[in-house]
Amino acid sequence: MNEKKSIYGTTLETLKVTFSGMGLRPFVASQVLSWIYKKNVTDVRRMTNISNDVKLKISQRLSFDRFKSVQQIPSEDELAVKLICELQDAQKIECVVLKEKSHLTLCISSQAGCPVDCKFCLTGVAGFKRNLDASEIVMQVLEAKQLGFDIKNLVFMGMGEPLLNYDQLFIAIEILNSDWGYNIGARHITISTSGYLASINRLIKDNRFVNLAFSVGSAFPVTRNQIMPIEARNPILKVARRLHDYLKLHNRKLTLEYTLLQSVNDSVFEIEGLINLAKYLDAKINLINLNPHEKIPFKPIDSDSLSLIKERIQSAGARVTVRFKKGQDIAAACGQLGESIISN
Ligand code: SF4
Repeated sequence: MNEKKSIYGTTLETLKVTFSGMGLRPFVASQVLSWIYKKNVTDVRRMTNISNDVKLKISQRLSFDRFKSVQQIPSEDELAVKLICELQDAQKIECVVLKEKSHLTLCISSQAGCPVDCKFCLTGVAGFKRNLDASEIVMQVLEAKQLGFDIKNLVFMGMGEPLLNYDQLFIAIEILNSDWGYNIGARHITISTSGYLASINRLIKDNRFVNLAFSVGSAFPVTRNQIMPIEARNPILKVARRLHDYLKLHNRKLTLEYTLLQSVNDSVFEIEGLINLAKYLDAKINLINLNPHEKIPFKPIDSDSLSLIKERIQSAGARVTVRFKKGQDIAAACGQLGESIISN
């Protein structure tokens, strides 16, 4: 394993400090990051405005290594491409390029596996390996760009609970968002969470305003506890109150992600609870019909029931969308990431 610090997890400020400690002028930091994030050049030897002795010093201190391998798997409908990335320690993570009408979105992983164990999610079944560091988060975007995907939108909805990897997540977001980095606007970055209270409190304390997507499971504690063990220590009633506090502080968007599980959370009673939660939080509901898998002990609902639920939500005056399944044939749809880990 390479012991040098990865350049891709280094912010401009940190790099300037590192370079001054090496006797280099701070503007070299801007030059190096400009090659990487503006010109897609990751080989220090090709950074032509930097002298050879400076290049040598930099490469002795910092690693420019990328993932060991990146395997591309396009879906049959051509609306999604799964990237299976092998990390330097041979762990594998997955991210997905999603082709929207006018732009490309990258669904990013924040952990290798996930410790949260939502019962409807294949990543949860795959178990937890480790947190990703900031460089491994940024590199997912970098590799997608190297493959020619002009990513404009990021959703942290891949493998892992991003708010359980708070520090590395926000270093990566600074690099992805800064004008010296990939310059992806904060409004184009969404973090999905299963509702980890300590980190929601920290978002408030740190004044970090981001778009959030909250994975509800069920608005009722008893049902939620059966499908999302996180409920035991992070009760939805408290999570909802903290999210409400958070949203009052700024005008970022909140989406309620609701994975529909037949005979579990699709009753009139359950949907009424969801509507009340959406109204309390002034949030849009995104319905996701379960992507079935042999390792997941639930079934999706039928399309008529899905339409009825959508109509019920609309007629109650709440905003609702239904997530279109992209990439289901390559196990790249929501809740399906982790296949490469399970099958290894
Ligand atoms: S839904 Fe998200 S938080 Fe839950 S197990 Fe899957 S990856 Fe983890």
